[in-house]
Amino acid sequence: MLELRPICENCGKDLPNDSNEAMICTFECTFCTECVSNILRNVCPNCGGGFEKRPTRPAECVTPDCLKNFPAKKDKKFRPVVLEKFKPLQEHYHDVDPRKR
Ligand SMILES: [Zn+2]
Ligand SMILES: [Zn+2]
Repeated sequence: MLELRPICENCGKDLPNDSNEAMICTFECTFCTECVSNILRNVCPNCGGGFEKRPTRPAECVTPDCLKNFPAKKDKKFRPVVLEKFKPLQEHYHDVDPRKR
C-alpha cells in the first residue's frame, strides 16, 4: 500500500493526503512540486527515478479502503538534499526520460 508521507523530504513543506503538490517516485520518496521542478529537475536524489503526482486516498469511507482505516503516515522524513552529493546522479539522469532510465 502506498505510504502517504506528510512532508516534502527536501523543504519540509506539509503534504497532506489531499495536497495537490505531492510528488512521489516508485519508492514513495515524497517531494513537493516546487522542489521536483526547480531543485531536483525530476531526478529522485535517493534512487534516480522520475516523479509522478501522488494520488489522494478517499477520505469518505464509501468502501473500507479509505483514509480513516488506512491513515497517512505520521513520522516525518526530512532529509534535505546535499547538492554536491546529488550532482553526479542528477547530471547522469536529468536529460533521460524517466521511462528510459
Ligand atoms: Zn519541497
Ligand atoms: Zn526515489
